[in-house]
Amino acid sequence: MSRAEHSTENEKVENAIVINNLKFSYQNTEILNIPSLKINKGEIVFLYGPSGTGKSTLLELVAGVLKNQFGSLSVCGESLDQKSLMELDRFRAENIGYIFQSFNLIPYLSVLENIELPFLFNKKYVDRTELMELIKNLGLTAYINRPVGQLSVGQQQRVAVARALIKKPKIILADEPTSALDYNHRENFLKILFNLCRVHETTVLFVSHDLTMEKLFDRSISLTDINQIRFENTESL
Ligand code: ADP
Repeated sequence: MSRAEHSTENEKVENAIVINNLKFSYQNTEILNIPSLKINKGEIVFLYGPSGTGKSTLLELVAGVLKNQFGSLSVCGESLDQKSLMELDRFRAENIGYIFQSFNLIPYLSVLENIELPFLFNKKYVDRTELMELIKNLGLTAYINRPVGQLSVGQQQRVAVARALIKKPKIILADEPTSALDYNHRENFLKILFNLCRVHETTVLFVSHDLTMEKLFDRSISLTDINQIRFENTESL
């Protein structure tokens, strides 16, 4: 008897992201045509592909920054297909932690102020004990009052991680956030991020054109394999 036939309700795998027949175009240019993709809750997934092949577009759809145009997209068990832009904003605020390539930090604000900023906008309460614990785990305690513009790239990256994790998102979406770091710093950064995510069963979808970090992930997916759109003049991997 297979493992599936033995499985009980408790063992049932929950899906963090489910895509069926998703299509997306900018103006009249089709960028994505993905027949199927499933990512399990708690999975740490590496999505790779050359520049310009739709990785950021896919992340923005999953984050609800872009509205789905065709097919179905469910994130954290909720269908995003019929949500308005305002509902997508609310969904993103409640469920998604987004780490951008440029970190999107405000250089003249301190580490603490940068991490707390999204809470000020959303008028939500930050648990100070949890915040200090997270800052400690990321090795940032000594810098909390320093403007982030005076920190190294590696330290700034950890501030961006703290800001994404403090709201306890169900999913972390990361858009090539390690490209500015050398190999050892990148590996270290990812290990810290993944350790924190495993504690809370946070799903990670990390996109990159650089395969060197692939081995650190639970699963890697080639966007070229799952997307039916072919691009000309992309750099080969
Ligand atoms: P990647 O993240 O893999 O580098 P992107 O998702 O950023 O790829 O872009 C995929 C394609 O869509 C590229 O050809 C890009 O020029 C195009 N594109 C991205 N954003 C827009 C936009 N806002 N309007 C029109 N075309 C866009």
